[in-house]
Amino acid sequence: MKTQIKKLVVASHNEGKVREIRDLLTPFGVQTQSAGELGLADVEETGLTFKANALLKARAAAQASGTASLADDSGLAVDALGGAPGIYSARWAQLPDTGMRNFNYAMAGIYEEMKKAGAFESGNTGAQFICALALVFPGGESYVYEGTVRGDIIWPARGDKGFGYDPIFKAYGDSQSFAELEPAEKHAKSHRADAFGQLTKAWFGT
Ligand code: IMP
Repeated sequence: MKTQIKKLVVASHNEGKVREIRDLLTPFGVQTQSAGELGLADVEETGLTFKANALLKARAAAQASGTASLADDSGLAVDALGGAPGIYSARWAQLPDTGMRNFNYAMAGIYEEMKKAGAFESGNTGAQFICALALVFPGGESYVYEGTVRGDIIWPARGDKGFGYDPIFKAYGDSQSFAELEPAEKHAKSHRADAFGQLTKAWFGT
């Protein structure tokens, strides 16, 4: 029989992600603590896939805390760019001079690279958001769930509601970008919702 999960460490220092994950777990009666609240060190993401990086983060937190831990690794993969920026989605946002993150800069980078590749003229604008969720127990037992949502890259960017690359991503069948949708609408169809649905089905039966 599977272990009952009562308490989880959310292996992230990103407050937005921690909040989103907490909101998703609270209905299942799971107590959460974040890596930041526990003072756990940040982990270098040296994996070559979303799954590998999510596992790295969750393993480190489970070992350091002695508690089951959950980590999310996510990003945007553009078809015309061979899946870039992919696991380097956060890195594409780093300004060359200060190293600060700026998503207008990251989105402009994607637009420029797609333009160079002739993606807009040929209609090759497909892309997907990917989210890997890793659940690791202190004994080492681990589970990974990967969720995706497919859509198109649009230009110019639209909307100010989401974060990251949301203003240039429009899910298939939608007329609005992810940054124009209400948060609840985005959360109902996002890559993170897909991965979470798999996790909650496996562990909480819904
Ligand atoms: P991570 O913290 O290493 O997983 O980096 C995730 C990167 O992908 C960040 O740059 C995010 O802005 C981007 N990203 C992940 N999920 C989303 C999303 O739902 N909307 C927009 N950008 C996202």
